[in-house]
Amino acid sequence: MIIDGHNDLVLHCWRGEPTEHLDLDAAQAADFAGGFFALYVPSPPVPDPTAIPYAVPLADQIPHEEAARIAEELFDALCALPVTRATSVDDFRAGHVTAIVHMEGAEPISSDLSNLERWYERGLRSIGLVWSRPNDFAEGVPFRFPSPPDTGGGLTDAGRELVRACNELGILVDVSHLNEAGFWDVAGLSAAPLVATHSNAHALCAVSRNLLDTQLDAIRDSNGIVGVNFAVTFLREDGSLVPATPISEIVRHVDYLADRMGVDHVAFGSDFDGAVVPAELGGVAGLPKLVDALRSAGYDDAAVAKITHENWLRVLRATWR
Ligand SMILES: [Zn+2]
Repeated sequence: MIIDGHNDLVLHCWRGEPTEHLDLDAAQAADFAGGFFALYVPSPPVPDPTAIPYAVPLADQIPHEEAARIAEELFDALCALPVTRATSVDDFRAGHVTAIVHMEGAEPISSDLSNLERWYERGLRSIGLVWSRPNDFAEGVPFRFPSPPDTGGGLTDAGRELVRACNELGILVDVSHLNEAGFWDVAGLSAAPLVATHSNAHALCAVSRNLLDTQLDAIRDSNGIVGVNFAVTFLREDGSLVPATPISEIVRHVDYLADRMGVDHVAFGSDFDGAVVPAELGGVAGLPKLVDALRSAGYDDAAVAKITHENWLRVLRATWR
């Protein structure tokens, strides 16, 4: 059974576009049991990097009212999918797709948090404080290569209140897309394990979206987790958008993260339908190839079980109520 840290299927469904990676009909054969389904209120598309180095300007802030309206439509699109919305770790089972309702960017939450509980009651169980733009709570990292993730200021007062409220309700707080100052603010505040749902090792690919060794150490010390992102621009040492990137580049990041943090803190965070992934993998149907590659790289049954689902289940159990 494979549980995954991030996909953008809902965005495509909302737009009425076909998906490229996550075909739910192919999920069963690939042992894909679901994971985090993003409700992402889109910014204008980020141009694909055509040259290295690159520095995409930070996207503009999206007003709360507009984001809240679009999030309702995204949520309706998620509810129309043939998946179970997870409210308990026990909802995950083999042969079935279970969706964690995940908000990627907290703009749909009002800055006084007055609608947070309503979202929780509807099934929201995970919030990424930011996408790669500023909002009332924090500031995301702009897409830059090479660049450290230290690109701006930390959490606002509202952001700190949101982390506390999420801890109380049992909503997971995701630090992917957050800048470094925001990361350390969450690390200092949150009582839950630190989670980066879809980020990689900065030591191997120096893009602003990836995590420094010091951040990885803090995630390990909190008994948290990193979902390895399959985006080729976050995998490759040269940061280039090359679809012909091999699956071994994913294994390279799994190896690094497992060496640095221990295998208990590594999982998948595919970014299916949100990024260009290795052509050799293709999409959800290629996941068994990735598992085979892990086995060939020396991961035994116990380690594969941890990476594919057990680590996510442990972190969710520690975070949810
Ligand atoms: Zn993302």
